[in-house]
Amino acid sequence: MAGIVVFFDFDKTIIDVDSDNWVVDELGATDLFNQLLPTMPWNSLMDRMMNELHTQGITIQDIEEVLKRVPIHPRIVPAIKSAYALGCDLRVISDANVFFIETILKHVGIRDCFSEINTNPGYVDEEGRLRILPYVDFQTSPHGCNLCPPNMCKGMIVERIQGILAKEGKKRMIYLGDGIGDFCPSLKLMETDFVMPRKDFPAWNLINKNRTLVKATVHEWTDGEEFEHILLQLINTITVEESQLLSVEYCKFQTMSKAATHGALPRALPVPY
Ligand SMILES: [Mg+2]
Ligand SMILES: [Zn+2]
Repeated sequence: MAGIVVFFDFDKTIIDVDSDNWVVDELGATDLFNQLLPTMPWNSLMDRMMNELHTQGITIQDIEEVLKRVPIHPRIVPAIKSAYALGCDLRVISDANVFFIETILKHVGIRDCFSEINTNPGYVDEEGRLRILPYVDFQTSPHGCNLCPPNMCKGMIVERIQGILAKEGKKRMIYLGDGIGDFCPSLKLMETDFVMPRKDFPAWNLINKNRTLVKATVHEWTDGEEFEHILLQLINTITVEESQLLSVEYCKFQTMSKAATHGALPRALPVPY
């Protein structure tokens, strides 16, 4: 059962909006954000926006209050709790930032369901200003993937985890996401994995246009209810398949041990009489 890793995008997947836009809009800084967006990468702009808001007297507590009001479909939190209770290894992969994600996950009581949060670093500096940094330092060590934004390649994160898990034995993966940045990691999944793109969102469009490039089985979803239903069904399907595989292996092992006892197969070690 613990052989299943589930990757969750955060914005428009776990929560129903984009957390960066939510904070900027709720704090009344949309015009400045839109004005600056053509001039710098999104991630650098968020750091700049947090500085602007701090200058205007917006505090960390104000930002936390806004984050706690973020809309989440009522079936998402129960779905994540169930997947965790079923023994799955849950991980976030997001281009938001650690401050926004942890504040929200803690507020809805599911932070401890996740073994890892892969996202842009963020911290509150000594002046009480939220700083947001890129996950990949694109000035000194660019990731080189042309599908992804300069600060993060989610495909590289999936590959790193695949590498670690391969050493621990076989694991099956489920990936849920909506955005352009969720297409690259979808291409890294294997035939035995599943990708759940949100219907009519950019990742879904890209996957449908490039179906031959995606090895994993695709299951689309529209809202929190389908998110819960499909995710739990896939976990169940994988669990049944894996237990059948285990029992086949067990039968093979029993047949071999019987054959060895009856002398049909050479014994690996001489049996002392
Ligand atoms: Mg997203
Ligand atoms: Zn990439």
